[in-house]
Amino acid sequence: MTPEELPKMDPKNLQKYTPDPDLFGLPAQLKDPANYEYIQKTLIHALRSTCDHSDVGEWEKCFKCQQKVIDHKNTMIRLGFKSPLQYRKWKKIMNHIMSGKRDPVNKSLTS
Ligand SMILES: [Zn+2]
Repeated sequence: MTPEELPKMDPKNLQKYTPDPDLFGLPAQLKDPANYEYIQKTLIHALRSTCDHSDVGEWEKCFKCQQKVIDHKNTMIRLGFKSPLQYRKWKKIMNHIMSGKRDPVNKSLTS
């Protein structure tokens, strides 16, 4: 878009913002970046096991490790996530926020 095109734009024709249905209704504590580290540590701790399986087959058959998977799922629910998909989308957004990378506006287009 060039600066010459800006005056031609009609605000009625702009695409309307629609929130992501998977992230809609996210609890306030999950929206606060200050809680990101705590949430990640809590989830990792819930999944951590003292076993040292060499292959996935052994891990799948281990009662203790499968109990950890259930603990992880229940912890996720207690923290306020509705689905693993919602968690993955939340994590992607939080990683972007926590990275400190910003997308600056091209000010030559708006002046
Ligand atoms: Zn195990």
